[in-house]
Amino acid sequence: MAELNLVLLGPPGSGKGTQGERLNEDLRLPYYATGDILRAAVRDKTELGRTAKGYMDAGDLVPDEVIVGVIVEALDSDAARDGFILDGFPRTTPQAEALDAKLDELGRRVTAVLLIDVTDDEVVRRIGGRRTCAENGHVFHVDFNPPKREGACDIDGSELITRDDDNPATIRNRLNQYHEKTEPLVDYYDQRSVLRRIDGEKDPDEVAEEIRRTLATMRLEQDEAV
Ligand code: ADP
Ligand code: ADP
Repeated sequence: MAELNLVLLGPPGSGKGTQGERLNEDLRLPYYATGDILRAAVRDKTELGRTAKGYMDAGDLVPDEVIVGVIVEALDSDAARDGFILDGFPRTTPQAEALDAKLDELGRRVTAVLLIDVTDDEVVRRIGGRRTCAENGHVFHVDFNPPKREGACDIDGSELITRDDDNPATIRNRLNQYHEKTEPLVDYYDQRSVLRRIDGEKDPDEVAEEIRRTLATMRLEQDEAV
């Protein structure tokens, strides 16, 4: 069967992490969420974290050369040999080109890009109520997906926090960055015939079901094309 090299694309707060967690469980493929990787680096005060923190706090993208190396190294590993899920990468055209170049070197390519489509208003509602588990980044929402016990993660019990960058001013900047720098990737991947649009405004179970159906159809198409 054709391998699945999957990219989750969409504005901040569209549900990439929520759906990525489920896909990770269902597909058992390594899952690389660049936001989570960067937050862990900030927490551990590594060189990567020290470089990234100022950009993240302002809601700007970290420079391409900072993040590309992290992903290229991850994809070169044995763990990613049979496929992978990328969440939050690529976010710029140079990142997409760097990803293609690396995969090309490995004789592979991006096989599916899911655009999780939501309006800017919905982004503001979602990020405004997002709570994130301090230990492992599990995601909740005060209204749309509340934890069973207030302030505690259902999965590992750790404290739920509001991310430093989940505030109104930063959200606006992140949306601007998305429209300016990341949205061009919709055309980039459409031209390569790997892009599929997912209606991200439905409830999480329905979004997950649409993703499952879309990936199953793409698999069939790819298997027929081989
Ligand atoms: P969200 O879930 O709101 O989309 P992420 O957790 O993916 O946010 O990313 C948080 C921050 O980390 C971004 O605002 C940006 O500063 C940085 N970041 C994450 N991925 C990338 C990337 N591929 N390129 C540049 N910066 C990134
Ligand atoms: P991203 O990784 O794209 O930034 P998240 O998965 O962190 O997005 O989701 C952002 C917020 O919206 C979280 O608080 C999450 O619980 C909530 N959320 C995710 N998917 C949905 C959905 N389909 N409907 C309502 N709220 C959602």
